[in-house]
Amino acid sequence: MDALRFAYRPLPVRVVFGKGVLGDLPAEVDALGLSRVLVLSTPGRRAGAERAASLLGNRGAGVHAGAVMHVPVEAAAEACRVAEAARADGLVSFGGGSAVGLAKAVTKETDLPIVAVPTTYAGSEMTPTWGMTEDGVKRTGRDERVLARTVLYDPSLTLGLPPAVSAASAMNAMAHAAEALYAPDASPIVSLMAEEAVRELAGALPEVVREPGGLAARTRALYGAWLCGTCLSATTMGLHHKLCHIFGGLLNLPHAETHTVLLPHALAYNAPAAVPELRRALGRDDPARALWDLSGSLGLPRSLKELGADPVHLEDVVARAVGGGFANPRPVEEAGLRVLLRNAWEGRPPVA
Ligand code: NAD
Repeated sequence: MDALRFAYRPLPVRVVFGKGVLGDLPAEVDALGLSRVLVLSTPGRRAGAERAASLLGNRGAGVHAGAVMHVPVEAAAEACRVAEAARADGLVSFGGGSAVGLAKAVTKETDLPIVAVPTTYAGSEMTPTWGMTEDGVKRTGRDERVLARTVLYDPSLTLGLPPAVSAASAMNAMAHAAEALYAPDASPIVSLMAEEAVRELAGALPEVVREPGGLAARTRALYGAWLCGTCLSATTMGLHHKLCHIFGGLLNLPHAETHTVLLPHALAYNAPAAVPELRRALGRDDPARALWDLSGSLGLPRSLKELGADPVHLEDVVARAVGGGFANPRPVEEAGLRVLLRNAWEGRPPVA
């Protein structure tokens, strides 16, 4: 413990967790002093967003179901126009990372406070990180103005999340926890949360996939996802997130599935960093292999080729990652990265 040294600053997000807490939405909106909130969602979540809007009664300023994965700048501009026309004084994001991402993009321009109601395990609702995509390049930044004021985690809203989407989303969440363990700004409290998060998510997932309507496993998974989002908000991510970010912007690959494919390989590349905590959480000696096996047993994609990535782009990804200037426990070098990406492209097991 002699060498223990860290800095940790919790972020001011109010979290309300439990079955049925969507019903608290009007009271939470009132507590923030808001009177005209616009509900944002993807087209697929419109029905749920409309239910949230109806709960809001005369505090509601309508529903805009225009959220799209990776927040194209055009979608952000359109949502800003809708919020202005509705004279909204706040936003409710109803849905996964795409809905939260759109809310953050609007808040970046307008300072409207956000109440987030997550329905996936992506974790964006806990972070001050925004992202937007323009001409195939995704830009991200950290700005505490876009942090949600309140997050309502209601596990019953996740019961309809299809098993495959649930499992991939949970792998996305576990990636936040795993990289938080070796982040340059890691701290003991974040490591505790990260280990618990991976234990809960990996423990709940087989049950979530077997019986997606089971509330107990869904509650455990959403609790794990909250912890993962908290880890992400407190730390700087490394190679794994960098690669996912490059693939997302360059090839528009599906976000959660890209995390799923790459995570075991990135962890193998970075081993022995994070291994003791993940070993305890997963109960296996080789956590990278354990996650690769878990993906297989859950029926998730394990290769970039299944996701439609053309191997001609792999060299471009190598070049962008090597020149990326980000912190990582192991130096990011071309030869090792090529092996990682080849294995991930083919769907081979991870190699340390
Ligand atoms: P998503 O929000 O696009 O949701 C995936 C799909 O699932 C959508 O079609 C959505 O309509 C549907 N869906 C969501 N909830 C559902 C439910 N309960 N039942 C049935 N269907 C449901 O995807 P995501 O994986 O949640 O988020 C990915 C996005 O979030 C990416 O753009 C990623 O970059 C971003 N992200 C950002 C951060 C951050 O901190 N800024 C963190 C994680 C993810």
